[in-house]
Amino acid sequence: MGGSVECPACKGLKRIGCPECGGSGGSRKAGGGERQTWSLCSRCDGKGLCTCPTCLGQGVMAVVPF
Ligand SMILES: [Zn+2]
Ligand SMILES: [Zn+2]
Repeated sequence: MGGSVECPACKGLKRIGCPECGGSGGSRKAGGGERQTWSLCSRCDGKGLCTCPTCLGQGVMAVVPF
C-alpha cells in the first residue's frame, strides 16, 4: 500500500487561492477622491495564489493507514 491521494484542499493543483487577498493579488485602497492605490498582497506577492498549506505544495497526501 503506502499510496497517496490527491490533496482535497487544492485538488492536486498544489496551490490555492490566497486567503489574504481572495486570489486577486492585492487590494484596492481608496485614496483621496478618484485616486485608488493598488497594494500588492504581501502574502502571495501579488500572484493571488499560495502554496497549499495542506499538502505543502505536493498536490498529494500520503495515505495514513490505521
Ligand atoms: Zn494574496
Ligand atoms: Zn494541497
